[in-house]
Amino acid sequence: MTEITVIGNCPKLITKEEIRAIVLSTITVMGYHGYYLKRPQEGVKVILGKMNLGKNKITEGNNAGVAWRGLGLFKVDIRKFRNKPGLTTILIHETIHLCANFSGSDEFIVSTLTDRLKESIIEIAEELASNTYKRAAYFAHSKKGMTYHRSEKNDCYNDEQWQNKKTTSGNKKQKGTK
Ligand SMILES: [Zn+2]
Repeated sequence: MTEITVIGNCPKLITKEEIRAIVLSTITVMGYHGYYLKRPQEGVKVILGKMNLGKNKITEGNNAGVAWRGLGLFKVDIRKFRNKPGLTTILIHETIHLCANFSGSDEFIVSTLTDRLKESIIEIAEELASNTYKRAAYFAHSKKGMTYHRSEKNDCYNDEQWQNKKTTSGNKKQKGTK
């Protein structure tokens, strides 16, 4: 799995948990379809701030975000974003750049995929971000001296793992589709 590090001042529009969730969900959806980070073991760095990111070759305006696939890193100029959907879009767009290079018409393909994949990405991210601290508490229980932790000679299976019968349906209907 890929560690996501958010560096810089997190804009008030969004939490760091949501940023990590959106970036990791994008990596997950891309990876599911065979498009991977160049060096997943080194993680991804998201740098947010008020910074000039140079001129955009296509629009000739200033860049809102710039990604370096080889480095697993992207930067976002937060001054460009007044609302959360816009910021969400740039996070997905730049993360897709980290996962694939479509050469020739890279920007058209990446922005199109940003639109098409957004619904799936947000659904996964929503779950990740919503229950961050509930799950973090479970992990805390696994530490030495905490409730889940057993000595090696007292190790055993917890049959509770079979109790919840939840499973995937494989065909969950998306909003807006028939
Ligand atoms: Zn781009």
